[in-house]
Amino acid sequence: MSALDLRAEGVRVARDGREILAGVDLRIEPGEVHGIVGPNGAGKSTLLAALALSQRLAGGAVLAGETDMARVSSRRRARIRAFLPQESGRGDDLTVRDLVELGRHAHMPALGGPGAADAAAVARALAAVGASALADRPIRDLSGGQRRLAFIAKALAQEPRILLLDEPLAALDPRFQLGVLRVVAGAAASGVGVGIVLHDLEVASRVCDRVTVVSGGRIAATGAPEGVLTAELIGDVYRVAARVSPDPLAGGLRIALSLPDTLLSEETP
Ligand code: ADP
Ligand code: MG
Repeated sequence: MSALDLRAEGVRVARDGREILAGVDLRIEPGEVHGIVGPNGAGKSTLLAALALSQRLAGGAVLAGETDMARVSSRRRARIRAFLPQESGRGDDLTVRDLVELGRHAHMPALGGPGAADAAAVARALAAVGASALADRPIRDLSGGQRRLAFIAKALAQEPRILLLDEPLAALDPRFQLGVLRVVAGAAASGVGVGIVLHDLEVASRVCDRVTVVSGGRIAATGAPEGVLTAELIGDVYRVAARVSPDPLAGGLRIALSLPDTLLSEETP
């Protein structure tokens, strides 16, 4: 299967007459882990949803290779990209296995249920995130983190060319965070382009080939983590004081943050 990139070209999103994304250009290359960071309310989730075409665009286009993603069927779109929204829902009465199997729908024949290849993909996805033991549990009985793992497995079972994950680590304990990051690296190594919203800048600097910083509905910077995650840019965008140095042990950057007390009174989250 040939590699596919995903590009946002001049993407605009408006809500309630307010511009949320103001003409954003972004390219997720095949085989890269592309981090999306930025303050609360910056537009990261809106950007990821727009890239997934799960959000209506007010302008611009999203292209996968030469394919205009707005012009293809939802079935074809689901074979190209998988999207984990920030809020992945409750899953109702489904078991974990049933939920993950929903990720296979775009690969199944229009008439007829899942086959052996689908069952194998579901089992692989559950094993990859370390959730095989949860397969028969109803989604509604799981903890927040376990539920999140099930939705991540669903996205993996989709076997997409491009994987879009909005804060996949947020509810996970350290072991499962590392597990999901290993899965992400493995997907990228096999040629999948990964767009991933992260809050932890040190983690982003370690696991991302490139990082895009979103601020106020625009791209503030994009490039290799060491070039982008500077003390100056972090200070500007998050309005914190930052000290940044290479991390010789873990790789990536060590980023120490503190709050200048002059800023506290003017905060609006
Ligand atoms: P981030 O993921 O970076 O925290 P979002 O993309 O979720 O930011 O939100 C960007 C902006 O869009 C924020 O100002 C937020 O208040 C606004 N917004 C998000 N969702 C909605 C919605 N459903 N209706 C109206 N405004 C929204
Ligand atoms: Mg968000």
